[in-house]
Amino acid sequence: MFDWLIVGAGFAGSVLAERLATQRGDKVLLIDRRPHIGGNAFDTHNEAGILYHKYGPHIFHTNSQAIFDYLSQFTKWRFYEHRVLAEVEGKRLPIPINLDTVNGLYGLTLDEQDMETFLAHRAEAVADIRTSEDVVVSKIGRDLYEKFFKYYTRKQWGLDPSQLDKSVTARIPLRLNRDDRYFTDTFQFMPADGYTRMFENMLDHDNIRIELNVDFKDIVKEHAARRMIFTGPVDEYFGYRLDPLPYRSLHFQHETLDKEWHQSTASVNYPQAHDYTRVTEHKYLTGQSHPKTTITYEFPTDKGDPYYPIPRPENAARYKLYEQLALAEQDVWFVGRLATYRYYNMDQVTGQALATFRRIEETLPTP
Ligand code: FAD
Ligand code: UDP
Repeated sequence: MFDWLIVGAGFAGSVLAERLATQRGDKVLLIDRRPHIGGNAFDTHNEAGILYHKYGPHIFHTNSQAIFDYLSQFTKWRFYEHRVLAEVEGKRLPIPINLDTVNGLYGLTLDEQDMETFLAHRAEAVADIRTSEDVVVSKIGRDLYEKFFKYYTRKQWGLDPSQLDKSVTARIPLRLNRDDRYFTDTFQFMPADGYTRMFENMLDHDNIRIELNVDFKDIVKEHAARRMIFTGPVDEYFGYRLDPLPYRSLHFQHETLDKEWHQSTASVNYPQAHDYTRVTEHKYLTGQSHPKTTITYEFPTDKGDPYYPIPRPENAARYKLYEQLALAEQDVWFVGRLATYRYYNMDQVTGQALATFRRIEETLPTP
């Protein structure tokens, strides 16, 4: 009999397995229905020997010293700042939109102050900024919105930006200067030997037993463990009894090319053309040297594994009902992007798992 059954070996499940095993001496059974650990952050070498991210590009960034220090126990890091170009009207321009984006698109030579005036003239007054359209047009106006955000968002989510919470497009800042980094967090690093190796180090403990290719539905929980942590989709746990929660999925097309480099930056976004949203070249992320290169196309779809909760009011309301069920569930903790229906990055999920561990310690003091 284990102390804990943990469903899902991604960030949420693995951080909690590590904490429970090392800090409390608890015995943990960690299962995943996939054939590997790491959840969506899983990376592996392909046939050509190139390290790639199976579930799309994962770039680690955080402003939290505590989260960075915690993960640093399990990996060395490689400094990496992500840069992205968006292909608009045949030009490849920096996204997030910055001074060079505007100058490049319109053939201008604005400086930072001109840029402020330029955008102020175009920005639309929106009294109540609620949606992903509002938050962009109120800052940069309609033309840039349509060129960089409208169709990309429709493609990615199958919804118009006006149907999505402002939090979605608000992930992409506006820059008046020439900073072309995708993120500006204090800590921007990739695990030096990859995510999977980091997870292996995290889970390397006698108190943790890992079983892969095992689905929760095939486990008799009462026989397996006293308590449980669930990191899969919360609606699935409850048998969809309040109707399914919508998720967005992606189809990943990985290609290995017989040349050293394919594109001039790690990711190229396509806000105007193609069925895919972006193409990422993995060697930029991993720093690997190799005569060939692997790229990944992301095709958004409704079918397939749930990857993204869809932030909009009706979905939040449905999740709240599931959350009530989750809170009433005895001896089960729900953690992670799918179990709490939150569009969280890896560092946020790590933070959520560490906070859950602190709550567990308060509720169940170590004997
Ligand atoms: P997951 O990684 O989804 O892990 C949950 C695990 O539970 C899965 O392995 C699943 O197989 C397993 N599971 C589910 N149900 C069951 C069941 N019934 N039985 C057994 N096992 C089950 N974050 C960043 O910080 N930076 C990025 O650049 C970034 N890029 C991303 C790109 C893409 C395309 C996607 C989809 C996400 C990206 N993220 C990024 C977000 C990141 O993937 C998540 O924050 C993180 O992986 C969530 O961890 P998790 O443990 O909550 O969930
Ligand atoms: N987005 C966009 N154009 C871009 C990049 C992003 O419209 O070139 C919008 C889109 O709605 C996307 C959201 O901003 O889903 C968040 O982008 P991010 O790159 O953070 O998405 P993720 O990496 O999580 O898929």
